[in-house]
Amino acid sequence: MRKIVLKCPKCKKKMKISDKVAKYRCPNCGEVYKYTKLKKVYFSVALVARDFLVTIKEFSSAIKGKYAAFKNTYKYMKSLKKNQKKAKKAKKWK
Ligand SMILES: [Zn+2]
Repeated sequence: MRKIVLKCPKCKKKMKISDKVAKYRCPNCGEVYKYTKLKKVYFSVALVARDFLVTIKEFSSAIKGKYAAFKNTYKYMKSLKKNQKKAKKAKKWK
């Protein structure tokens, strides 16, 4: 069973509950928190959204890394070509 962490609406302390529609008592202040189906949907959407954002972030940083590597390779190839041209010219002048 998945556990979710939420804030007690009364004392604002974090409380851990299992992801199941039920009533939960806050261990800190004793406030009863009703975890309803609607809240369950909300939390699962929020969790999916968070996972999605993390994935997007990882994906974009991976792309950025690849792009940087590509750019470096391109620069290297360019300078290599330049050097080759220079070498040819140098041969001609001999
Ligand atoms: Zn509480």
